[in-house]
Order: sequence, then structure tokens, then C-alpha cells
Amino acid sequence: MSTANTTAATATPIFPSFEQVYQGLAGQIGMLREMAPQPTKSDEKRLQGAVETLIEETNADEAVWLESCIHCGQCTNACHYFQATGEAKYAPMRKMDLYRRVYQREISPMRWWHRLITQPVKLSDFEQAKELIYDSCSECGRCTMVCPMGIDTASLVHHMRSAMVAAELVPPELAALRMEQKQMGTVFGSSPDSLRKMVETIREKAGIEVPLDKEQAEVMVLSSAVDLVANGNGLLATAKIMNHLGVDWTICSDGFESANFGLLSGDMSLWKKQVDPIIAAAQRVQAKILVIAECGHAYPALRWNPMLSSGGLPFEMMYMSEFLGKQAKAGNLHLTPFDGKVTFHDPCKTGRRGGAFDEPRAVLAAMDADLVEMPANKEYNWCCGGGAGIFLLEDATRLRDESFKIKIREVNESGAESVVVSCASCRLNFESGRQKNHWDKQVHSLVELVADHLIEDESTANAQARGAVA
Ligand code: SF4
Ligand code: SF4
Repeated sequence: MSTANTTAATATPIFPSFEQVYQGLAGQIGMLREMAPQPTKSDEKRLQGAVETLIEETNADEAVWLESCIHCGQCTNACHYFQATGEAKYAPMRKMDLYRRVYQREISPMRWWHRLITQPVKLSDFEQAKELIYDSCSECGRCTMVCPMGIDTASLVHHMRSAMVAAELVPPELAALRMEQKQMGTVFGSSPDSLRKMVETIREKAGIEVPLDKEQAEVMVLSSAVDLVANGNGLLATAKIMNHLGVDWTICSDGFESANFGLLSGDMSLWKKQVDPIIAAAQRVQAKILVIAECGHAYPALRWNPMLSSGGLPFEMMYMSEFLGKQAKAGNLHLTPFDGKVTFHDPCKTGRRGGAFDEPRAVLAAMDADLVEMPANKEYNWCCGGGAGIFLLEDATRLRDESFKIKIREVNESGAESVVVSCASCRLNFESGRQKNHWDKQVHSLVELVADHLIEDESTANAQARGAVA
């Protein structure tokens, strides 16, 4: 059990437990299938749109990856969906077959030859590929770690998701949330009003100040739909930490949402539409740092956004675990000890694809945690099975649940009594797996753990004197 500070441990909780959060969200997710839009275009237009999208998105990198697979099979065992099922169709190299066919027939220098020896691509080919592109690829990047040709299967799968948007073949849950975010700018109903209400609740019930919509601030933080419609503890924890550090910070009601169903579905225009207001708000408040909330896919949506020229942005973007890690390394985080063996699950998007390995571990070190690593860790960490929106997909339930058993085995082998995660999606998937398997491990959010372990006599003035951000 963790040793949180006395006040946090005994105070009446303001928000529901994460177990309750998971149960509430599971109910909402169950209704998404009925809300999904139906195809509106003819089959011919859908096929044409999918093929044209792939042609448009294929540049030199994609062409090299599609040309260079030597079918060695090294990547097969690296994929958790293959590991969990033993079914050959889930091998990473199979997930690029349809893309390669389109490339060979439409773009490659040998297209005249490929048109002689391969069948034209049909809409039914895209329909059949849907399971491989959505249900069985969390775009985790683990297969690339072992590929002798350095093929980035996750990126190729992402382009296929763009083609699936054009083919109107997005899975119903992602299609419903994409439509909501596109048409209303909300996710699960989370809106600027939800943020204002959450801020008021935190101010009134916890007595914690949340500087909403400041005109100028050094640090701008994001939140996410999960925090605003279900788990207020995420924003509460962020506010406690920022105030404790004496950071000059704000959250903006016109640019706060981390969740990006453009990225998850493959809709590039929605991806950009969601990111633009965040960038504009950060520039307006003259932020030096943009802190991305614990929402794994928000990291590539912002930090690795191909539509943003990050070199030209006047602020640094970092994930919550990176921000906390830098504060810990600078000696600014003074925390009570954490008892018991604990392991850290690196979210694929921030770890393997983002390189944020040392920072979350520095935070755990700041609370003298007895950190033990899973057999496969850091770059080789196994995905929890729910990334890239898969947590939401009913059709992916078997794949998700079976692949989570790899995670259970890894955590159990580490000897840890609890797991720390730093991604709301991973956390939901862990909670699902924990409940379904009657698993006895506790699962913590990094930011909430830090907030619970703050030493309360550390005054804001002291933190400011240390120059927490500068
Ligand atoms: S990116 Fe991850 S989920 Fe996708 S094929 Fe590779 S290992 Fe499997
Ligand atoms: S490891 Fe790379 S080259 Fe080998 S089959 Fe997989 S994708 Fe192809």
C-alpha cells in the first residue's frame, strides 16, 4: 500500500474512485455503436477515396517501407496481438498487405507489371482489412524495434486508418466520437462548460485554486474528456502539484482537450482542427511550456504532429510525466515515501515512440519507491492492448483481453505489488483487465500519486524561490 500524506488519505473523496469512473465510462462506451453514422457515399466513391488517400499520403518513407519488407517474420512475435492468439493474420507484416497492393498498382515504378499480375483492389478488401487496421494494431511500434529493415508498421497502419475514413469504414465507436468532436467540438459531452464546472467544483470542494483562462502564464496545461466527464481527480491532482511548485500556470477554456479522435480514427482534418486552438491558446498566453495531460495518444497528436513545424513554435511541449520528471530531477518535488514494490508501465506513445523513460522513474525515485522493472521494459515494454482507441472497440474485446494477459504475466513476474501508469487509456484498460481477471494489483496514475504524496509544509513561496519552472 502507498503511504500518501495524512490529509489526502483521510479526507472525504470529492470525486468517484477510478473503479467507479471505469464502470461509468464503460456504460457510455456501450452506447456509442448506436450513435455511429452510416456510410453516405456510393461504394465506388468510397473505394476511390480510400485509394486516393493512400496515394496522397505515400511519400518516400512509406514507399521505402512498403518496398523493403523481406518477409523474415522477425516482427511476428513482437506483436502482442499475435503473441496472445498465435493467429498468423495478426503478424505485423500482414497489416501492410493491402497498402502494399495499392502502392504497387498505383504508385510504384513497376506498376505496369503489378497491374498485370494482381487483381484490382475492391472495397471489400478494405472491409476485410478493417480488423487488422483498427482492432489488432495499437500503433505501439514494438514490431519496428526488431525489424531488420526498420519498417514503421504503425505509421503504415495509421495511413490505412486515413484510407478507412475515406472508405467510411471507421469502427462505430470511433466513428461516433469522431462525428461528435467534428460537429460539436466535444468528446463524451466534455465542453468548455464542463471545464468551468470542474474548476468550480475543485475550487469549492477542495479549496484548490485552478487559474482558468489567465491572460498570460508560463505553463499551460491540458485536460481530457476522461478527466472532465468522469475522473476529476486528474485535474485536481494537476492543480495541487502546479500550485505546490509555485508555477505560473493556466488552463484555457478555448484549448484544453487532449483527446483527439482525428488521430485515432485517421481523420487528418479533424486532427488538425483539434490541435489548432491549443496551439493558438498557448501562443496567446505566451506559454513557455505546454504540458500534455495523461492521455497517451495526445502526445503524438501534438508533439509529433506532422502538420506542425515544432521548430517554429515559441514553447516547449512535454507530457505530464516529462514535466514531473524534470521537476523531480531539479529537486523541486518533495514527496513522502511510497511503500511496497512498484513497477512502471511505459505508455507506448510516450515511451517507445517518445523516449520519456527516465522522467517517470525520476518521479518514483523522488518518493523513494522500490521500483522493479517488468522483464520487457522501456523500449520493449508490451502494450497494454488498449492503445490507439482499441480500448473503445467492442469488436476488439477478445484481442484486448487476451493481450492484457501478457501484461498481467509481466507485472506478476516483476514482483511488484502495484503498477503506475501515466495514460488515461492505459489506466482504463488496466482497470478493465484487473476487474475481469480478479487481479490483485493496485493501479495508480502517476500525476495522482504525486499529488497524494506532496509534502504539505512545502510552501508555494519556497517553491517559487527555487524557481520551479524557470
Ligand atoms: S505497431 Fe504494435 S500492435 Fe501494431 S503490428 Fe506492430 S507490434 Fe503489433
Ligand atoms: S521484421 Fe520487418 S522485414 Fe521482417 S517481416 Fe516484419 S516488417 Fe518485414
